[in-house]
Amino acid sequence: MDRTQVKLKLTSNPEVLSALNHVGALKEDKNGKGKYLAIQFDAFEYRFYPDVEIVVPSAVAEGLYRGSGVLIGDAMSGTQQPGLEVVEKWELGEQEPSKKASKTTCSVCGEEQGTVKALVAHMATHADEGEEEEGK
Ligand SMILES: [Zn+2]
Repeated sequence: MDRTQVKLKLTSNPEVLSALNHVGALKEDKNGKGKYLAIQFDAFEYRFYPDVEIVVPSAVAEGLYRGSGVLIGDAMSGTQQPGLEVVEKWELGEQEPSKKASKTTCSVCGEEQGTVKALVAHMATHADEGEEEEGK
């Protein structure tokens, strides 16, 4: 089973975007959401809009990544560049790296406190709650 999850997004490289546009790979959304990159994989069309991230299993991600390639420059000296970017990867059952708690995230309620000082003060409020409950 494919356990690796991959988060992909449309590249932000303007050179690659203009090349994709040039070859007609970028399609205009009928609902006015802008241009998107459509890639067929496994009888399914994946649409990548700017600033929209898509999470897929790694096997699908590899296929989409390969399918997103576009030639930059001329046929002789140009290079293939992927039209997609890998944002992050993680194993199924793990938390997404971007959603992982930082050092200043409350371990009780998961709220981000920003600074250690604020976290300490915040944790104290949980401690009070706990004591009250135990006393009941
Ligand atoms: Zn908290």
